[in-house]
Amino acid sequence: MNQQQNKILESLQKYSQRHELLSVEDLHFKAALIDMDGTLYDSMGYHTLAWHRMLLDIGIDTDRNRFYHFEGMTGKATVNLLFREYLHRDATDEEVAEHYQRKAAYFNAMPEVPPMPGAKQLLDTLVARGIKCVLVTGSGQRSLIDRLQRDFPGVFSPDMMITSADVEHGKPNPEPYLKAMQRAGVRPEEALVVENAPLGVRSGATSGAFTIGLTTGPMPEEALACEGANIVLPSMQSLADNIELILDKSLE
Ligand code: CA
Repeated sequence: MNQQQNKILESLQKYSQRHELLSVEDLHFKAALIDMDGTLYDSMGYHTLAWHRMLLDIGIDTDRNRFYHFEGMTGKATVNLLFREYLHRDATDEEVAEHYQRKAAYFNAMPEVPPMPGAKQLLDTLVARGIKCVLVTGSGQRSLIDRLQRDFPGVFSPDMMITSADVEHGKPNPEPYLKAMQRAGVRPEEALVVENAPLGVRSGATSGAFTIGLTTGPMPEEALACEGANIVLPSMQSLADNIELILDKSLE
């Protein structure tokens, strides 16, 4: 067993103790609740560029990498946060709609984003093992949501998707992941969360699920660990390669 596999088993043991299970063998994951941008799709570079261009239009030049700190929030929440920070007031509903639409238009005009390497392998394994998959995204952009069926056919049925339209409080609130558990009919300790952003990890971890952070962008491991990730892995491919170990809690 290699170092990473040992780390994964330790994290599962710690998690089972925290949930007062007798042993790690009593952990039975039945659902995987999976983020979309930066997790299933390598899309965050274009999203940060689109936000940056939207702000430039209103005369604000900011570091593009700042948007990785907001990742996971709904578009509405992001526009409001930007208004408060740069214009010192809340955005009106009309301004939220206008600016988010413009940001979405910039994103849609960019080249098609590829699925994250390893995502298909992960989802195929989960489906083969009978694990229910639920999409949990703060996005309301149909362009990517509508591609899921093409890129990952049969994985996410329409009732197994939580988008910005389904929640009152987006990430980092636990609501999106709690709603996803309801849809899947599972308890927190029966759910895996797969996330790449600090605010998304916080949402997953506070929902009580076993939360897996993936460092697929510039955010370092510590940024995900300090928000409560039970384990942080360096890529989606690494999770795909280790998912059987997480489900079985052994290499047998
Ligand atoms: Ca994400």
